[in-house]
Amino acid sequence: EASQKKHDILVIGGGPGGYVAAIKAAQLGFDTACVEKRGRLGGTCLNVGCIPSKALLNNSHLFHQIQHESKSRGIDIKGDVSINLPKFMDAKDKVVAQLTGGIEMLFKKYGVKYYKGAASFVDEHHVNIDPIEDGEKAVVKADNIIIATGSEATPFPGIEIDEERIVSSTGCLSLSEVPKRLVIIGGGIIGLEMGSVWSRLGSQVTVLEFQNAIGAGMDGEVSKATQKFLTKQGLKFKLGAKVTKGVREGEVVKIEYEDTKSGKTESLEADVLLVAVGRRPYLKGLNAEAIGLDIEKRGRVVIDSQFKTKFDHIRCIGDATFGPMLAHKAEEEGIAAVEYIKNGHGHVNYANIPAVMYSHPEVAWVGQTEEQLKEAGIKYKVGKFPFIANSRAKTNMDTEGFVKFIADAETERVLGCHIIGPNAGEMIAEAGLALEYGASTEDIARVCHAHPTLSEAFKEAAGSVFGKPINF
Ligand code: FAD
Repeated sequence: EASQKKHDILVIGGGPGGYVAAIKAAQLGFDTACVEKRGRLGGTCLNVGCIPSKALLNNSHLFHQIQHESKSRGIDIKGDVSINLPKFMDAKDKVVAQLTGGIEMLFKKYGVKYYKGAASFVDEHHVNIDPIEDGEKAVVKADNIIIATGSEATPFPGIEIDEERIVSSTGCLSLSEVPKRLVIIGGGIIGLEMGSVWSRLGSQVTVLEFQNAIGAGMDGEVSKATQKFLTKQGLKFKLGAKVTKGVREGEVVKIEYEDTKSGKTESLEADVLLVAVGRRPYLKGLNAEAIGLDIEKRGRVVIDSQFKTKFDHIRCIGDATFGPMLAHKAEEEGIAAVEYIKNGHGHVNYANIPAVMYSHPEVAWVGQTEEQLKEAGIKYKVGKFPFIANSRAKTNMDTEGFVKFIADAETERVLGCHIIGPNAGEMIAEAGLALEYGASTEDIARVCHAHPTLSEAFKEAAGSVFGKPINF
């Protein structure tokens, strides 16, 4: 028997969009509930996305460094260094369990009611909860509903995922052995991060990308430089490759692709094929049809600038709607959506959402690319500084990459910042701050940065827009 419940706000989905919205709502005094059907909070990001991938990236990098760099750093290792894959995976799983459990504690701390189950609309004011595990069966009436149901991997027509030999990112995060040959369809961030992990553990990695550049959306110069350093690390790239077939035959996967330049069909074999061609909004089981939500052709829930669907009291945030599919974007929207409910105003600056690829070196950017500015007819100047000339990068023996600023030609206001380098993902936060406050590159260059730090390269690159760098 379903119990009848009533809340001020019901959040559907406990990912970074949903759980942040729920905590914020409770902090602002709303009687708040969040429903999640996965059995664990944190969504894609904590369970099968950002967090497990970064655990594998960090530890595979450490392994690679120990294997290949210890000698040059004067560290002698006696005996073999090898990967214990089950323990390597345990380390990742532990972090995931700690972080997802942490959100459950935060829900308790702030008084968010957690429904373990799958939500589906009965009508626009009532949501049915079909319980899992020890969850309760309930029908929830809520004054406001926030849909934060996230996304799923986009399937590749004709290629069947078995999460064993033909995998999505989820299967690729939990392989039970290191594949000799890993082929990846899609040279976007997820594909390249997974390629980095397994290449460091010993796989021969081949990336098939339909476009003529990798890193979807990166500044052109950065994309080329990224392909170069990944190639140096052993990854192989086939650009302009249109995959036409991917089938499992026993323990191998046979792949065919058309080289779009020559028109020739090529074939190759893999032990594991990763399909990483993007993600699409996930609304399965939500019964959105029952209330006639507007959904556009790519499956995104149509919303206005206040995240409202066609109903004033039903909002949608995160991967399920428009914008870059990033955890921090979903979180910002979670806060803003709740603030709209509370005070009628909220804010997300979509021109200032950083993107990071956690390869080594990392690739990070915020603001506009040269290509975007050219297309918009905006005149700009570029300032660059290489990490090879940065003292801290030198001491760390980690000198690949550069900082690149793009500034307005006349005012030198920062328009974009693109970094390849150690810790680029942390450093890009400073560029975001500059962008938000409308800083010029000279403003940045006149701020004292500590020595010796990687951030001096950031200051020097900014200084290179209006003058010459000192150390290069
Ligand atoms: P999700 O995190 O997808 O959460 C939605 C939740 O809703 C899910 O847990 C789902 O079970 C639940 N749900 C759905 N329908 C229902 C229902 N009817 N009832 C109850 N619950 C429901 N982003 C970054 O910013 N940085 C990264 O480094 C990064 N790395 C990534 C690596 C990988 C391999 C992948 C796949 C993604 C990565 N992302 C990264 C993207 C990031 O995970 C997503 O942008 C983010 O999780 C979106 O948050 P969300 O809250 O909108 O949705």
